[in-house]
Amino acid sequence: MERLLCNKREENFLIVSGSEFKHLKALRLRKGEKFEVYCEGRLFLASLSEVLKDYAICSILEEIEKPLPKPSVVLYQCLPLDLRLMEEVVDRVSQAGAVRLVPLMCRRGFREIQKVEERLERWRKLSLASFKQCKRPEPMEVSTPLRLEDFKPEEEVLLLLDNFTANLTLRDIDLRSKSYGLVVGPEGGFSREEVDFLKSRGCLPLLLKPYVYRSEMAGAVAVALIMNLARD
Ligand code: SAH
Repeated sequence: MERLLCNKREENFLIVSGSEFKHLKALRLRKGEKFEVYCEGRLFLASLSEVLKDYAICSILEEIEKPLPKPSVVLYQCLPLDLRLMEEVVDRVSQAGAVRLVPLMCRRGFREIQKVEERLERWRKLSLASFKQCKRPEPMEVSTPLRLEDFKPEEEVLLLLDNFTANLTLRDIDLRSKSYGLVVGPEGGFSREEVDFLKSRGCLPLLLKPYVYRSEMAGAVAVALIMNLARD
């Protein structure tokens, strides 16, 4: 079923305008046709009531309340030197099922916090676009950037993706936990001190097989594997 976004609700009606209105027209939806609309943090099943010049009016049929799949996975991704690569990370990791993406600033990655903050809105829009495409129950949250030294994760199991020193693979990890935090390094990998610091914060080094992934791929692979292999 198609899914559209809107930010205006009037009682039982949702008003779809702007680029989403263009999308609705491109889909050639007809009056009475049903689709999903995400508005103000809630997902509705709606039907098309009226198409006007600049907007469409949809009637709410019911609220869709799907539980988030378990477990909950948060990806701490070191920022690539070319910030544009984060756009791929946002899209892939959202499809793979992470609940939250935390841009992490480390020694060999991008570190100008102001420039990172300027990109947040774009990354959050991409997360919404991915939510429309992959039909997640909720969009993946994109957090404000975090310095590695401020890394104080709350997830039950913390895994440091490490193609240098790790000898644990996913088969060695207990996949019955409720929440996982995954940390992925930048193109150049983590420094020795950073690996020691992350281990001191409780991270277990994890090796993905069989080769070396690009930083912007490694997180998505790990998230997808955990979402598929973990037991409820
Ligand atoms: N420059 C490094 C590669 C870094 S890959 C080298 O030459 O080996 C970037 C990041 O992706 C790494 O820091 C790690 O977090 C993750 N990564 C890539 N491949 C991986 C693998 N096979 N296992 C675990 N982590 C991996």
